[in-house]
Amino acid sequence: MTKIKRGFRIRLYPNDAQKEQIAVSFGCSRWLWNNMLAMQKERHDNEPSAPYLSAFSMNYLLKQLKREYPWLKDADSTALTGTNENLHEAYVRFFKGQSRFPKFKSKRHEQSYISKCVNNNIVVIDAHHIRIPKLGSVYFKAGKLPHGRICSITIRQKASEKYEASVLCEYEEVDLPKTGKTIGIDVGLKDFAILSDGTKISMPRFDKESEERLRHWQRLASRRLLSAKEAMKKNEDLRLTDFKNYQKARRMCAKIYEHVANQRKDYLDKLSTWLVKTYDVIVIEDLKAKGMMNNHHLSRAIANASWNMFADMLAYKCLSYGKKLIRVNPGYTSQTCNVCGCVNNRMGYNAYGWLKVREWDCPECGSHHDRDINAAININETGLAVGLA
Ligand SMILES: [Zn+2]
Repeated sequence: MTKIKRGFRIRLYPNDAQKEQIAVSFGCSRWLWNNMLAMQKERHDNEPSAPYLSAFSMNYLLKQLKREYPWLKDADSTALTGTNENLHEAYVRFFKGQSRFPKFKSKRHEQSYISKCVNNNIVVIDAHHIRIPKLGSVYFKAGKLPHGRICSITIRQKASEKYEASVLCEYEEVDLPKTGKTIGIDVGLKDFAILSDGTKISMPRFDKESEERLRHWQRLASRRLLSAKEAMKKNEDLRLTDFKNYQKARRMCAKIYEHVANQRKDYLDKLSTWLVKTYDVIVIEDLKAKGMMNNHHLSRAIANASWNMFADMLAYKCLSYGKKLIRVNPGYTSQTCNVCGCVNNRMGYNAYGWLKVREWDCPECGSHHDRDINAAININETGLAVGLA
């Protein structure tokens, strides 16, 4: 049995004292990140050949910083070593060319810190209480209760000022009963997913459901921002944070965005679980190879994000439950006739590389095809060929 790691997202409801303590840990982690980053930069500027300091060395420096700045001890100590490790990771990704140079953290952005589990100091007490270092028992709500061995907890405060945590757990994979069935899935814009058995699954328009409420608060936010700016011109002592009405409108917008994102995530979670339970082998297109990652249209950007999330969910669920996920090259899956195998080059594309036709007839064998179902069948068959090889 292999062990897998998975994060469980929970919503935290800290009391006032706990909120204060969380703010202290946010502040100390941010301060440490910025100072370590400044130190590394300065070191490099003074002596370009000086070796970069790893997490281990930064943790050594941390001990001395704690002597110099005793208030650092008010934060959970693993949050500080965790910050060093995160900075180290950021540097490693930068050295590998996977991401940009680490940035300084500002108070304005989403705040977070990570606590590591040592000597069982993070415990899920019951369905609604979790013990967290320095905070004690915190009330929480979760769709799925974290289970397995807890490795760490990341606590963050969203733009809506809600508190959230991700509990990273390690547990042994459980194999779901085998069903002997396989399925190919094509993703699209009109329907979210098209299965090779002909089922079309569309994602509910969660954004439309909240559209009116969002517009209402957006209008208020922009109106209140304008009058706040007017007032700030007259009185230079005023800060944007002083305008509680504007802050409330801004928070409400963030809340609605988060709500819609949560609805989408929840939907994809259920859909992927159902697929993994129902099928032994799931074949999808390699979306990165499909070249749909960059475009400026909001609806497509959202669709892209959802597909990526969906593919990730399928990947870890297949791994967790002993099922198989195969990614195939998306080339020609739409234009190939699944009956005779000929490639129909006469199908039209629009500017985005999306096929315009929804239905077509095979020029060789005359079969009538629904574009998406035909593609899903091809994906399934290609996947099986790859999987058997
Ligand atoms: Zn044909």
